[in-house]
Amino acid sequence: MRNGADRRIADALAAAGLSWGARVADVLAAVADHRGRSVQVSPLPAALSGQRYGAVLPYPDRDDVLYRPGSTEAELHNVIHLCAHLLLDHAETECTPAVLSDLAQLLPDLPTRLVADVLHTTAAAENAEAEAEAFVSALHGSLAA
Ligand SMILES: [Zn+2]
Repeated sequence: MRNGADRRIADALAAAGLSWGARVADVLAAVADHRGRSVQVSPLPAALSGQRYGAVLPYPDRDDVLYRPGSTEAELHNVIHLCAHLLLDHAETECTPAVLSDLAQLLPDLPTRLVADVLHTTAAAENAEAEAEAFVSALHGSLAA
C-alpha cells in the first residue's frame, strides 16, 4: 500500500474514532456522524447481485447502503467496504454504467439524474477500491462479528 493512501486511511479512521476490532454498528455510527444524516443498510436487489460489493445511494436526507447478499462474513465485508467509500469521501460507488438503467428502474423514486451523478464511475475508481479495501483490512476484527 502506498504511503499516501495509508495516511488517508489512518486519518479517516482517527477522525471517525474507529480502530481494529470496531463493530459494524460503530462504523455505521461513524458514517452517520461524518455525513451528518442517517444511514440505512439493506440488501442489494437481486437483479443487481452481480455487483461486487453493492451500491451507495446518497438521497438528500440519508444514505442508503445496499450490500451484496452473501455469507455473513461477506456481507459484513461489503457493508464496511461501502461505508469506507463514504468515510473516505469517494464520489463514486460500485455501479458501472451498464447497471445504471437497471438500478433506475428498480428505484423509481431516485431521480435519474441523481443516479447518473452518483453512480457514475470515474478514472479514480480503482484507487478508491484499493483504499476501501485497505480500510476494511484496518478494521479486520469487524469481520469476526
Ligand atoms: Zn468499492
